[in-house]
Amino acid sequence: MNILVTGGLGFIGSHTVIELIKSNHTVVIADNLINSKIDVLNKIETVVNVRPTFYQVDVTNELDVEEIFTNHKIEGVIHFAGLKSVGESVSKPLEYYYNNLVSTMVLSKLCLKYGVEKFVFSSSATVYGDQPSPLKEEVELKRTTNPYGETKAMSERILTDIANAHEKFAVSLLRYFNPVGAHESGLLGENPNGIPNNLMPFVTKVAKGELPKLTIFGDDYDTVDGTGVRDYIHVVDLAKGHVKAIENLNKGVNCYNLGTGKGTSVLEMVNAFMRVNQVAVPYEIVDRRPGDIATCYADVSKAEYELDWKAELTIDEMVRDAWNFEQKQGLIEL
Ligand code: NAD
Ligand code: UDP
Repeated sequence: MNILVTGGLGFIGSHTVIELIKSNHTVVIADNLINSKIDVLNKIETVVNVRPTFYQVDVTNELDVEEIFTNHKIEGVIHFAGLKSVGESVSKPLEYYYNNLVSTMVLSKLCLKYGVEKFVFSSSATVYGDQPSPLKEEVELKRTTNPYGETKAMSERILTDIANAHEKFAVSLLRYFNPVGAHESGLLGENPNGIPNNLMPFVTKVAKGELPKLTIFGDDYDTVDGTGVRDYIHVVDLAKGHVKAIENLNKGVNCYNLGTGKGTSVLEMVNAFMRVNQVAVPYEIVDRRPGDIATCYADVSKAEYELDWKAELTIDEMVRDAWNFEQKQGLIEL
């Protein structure tokens, strides 16, 4: 298939581009580099020996995106491009709603115009709000607590309505749990600008000595050791889930949890990082972070059954690859 991957130079997008190419698909990337660097394209080429066609465009710009549809016979779209910081979305709601919703509408509009029948969307477990785990796809969604989460819930509804109105437009809504880890080459991984919000990039910066200590947000939750429990999934497993999702997408609206189905606490994650990598991660327990929930993990049986996909990599492999990538930062320039 000829697949347009928006946000294809970002963390999850770049790993997915690699897996798509390995599965013999042809990839066209659209990314405006707002949260990624052009050298990721070189790194993709180093890993798979193929250089995907790249357009530096903002996917909210319909005219620019239309050029891609006229230049290539696109057969499927995987839409990763989006702003993703929960905290920032509270202070900049309009930027988040505009970027994340207009991009989804521009792309789906062009899919209808050019007869593109497959659309895979990056959604998030955040659409579930605070509900008991394991989370199943069919539970009724609760209002999320921040504009970022709302952009995901709204995009899901927009795409669902379009697919219901147009028989030939099939949609896969992929709800990611907590993607971590990096490519085993150490070339690609998660490298957020500034101080990281998420646990794993914060841990790697502390281990490297770039930040003094990790603050663990609360140890009084009703969990195995009082710290928050999440379903961490290796980004390479997640990427492979996208290949399965687009290859199995035929009609209607299809929603899948992409996680491992297992919950891991913050302390379990930090201890695994120290044990596997033989490096210290000083930490301090502080108050709970506002908006956090105690526990969130997936029921993954639907993706396993319908897509024949299952996450395979372990927590030890996630922390090993995250640290390998972090240590190579700044050492490899292509
Ligand atoms: P990322 O920031 O690394 O990648 C997103 C990419 O999209 C970046 O390369 C950025 O430059 C690009 N982009 C953003 N807005 C754009 C626009 N208007 N036009 C063109 N390019 C644009 O993020 P990621 O972690 O790879 O996440 C990918 C998708 O998955 C996002 O939609 C995110 O909301 C969703 N998601 C991520 C997580 C996570 O924990 N990483 C969890 C759930 C869902
Ligand atoms: N967390 C933490 N310290 C940090 C960042 C995160 O203790 O510096 C905890 C957070 O409270 C949650 C878990 O780690 O229990 C995962 O948080 P993250 O922000 O990575 O993902 P999300 O909250 O979106 O699931």
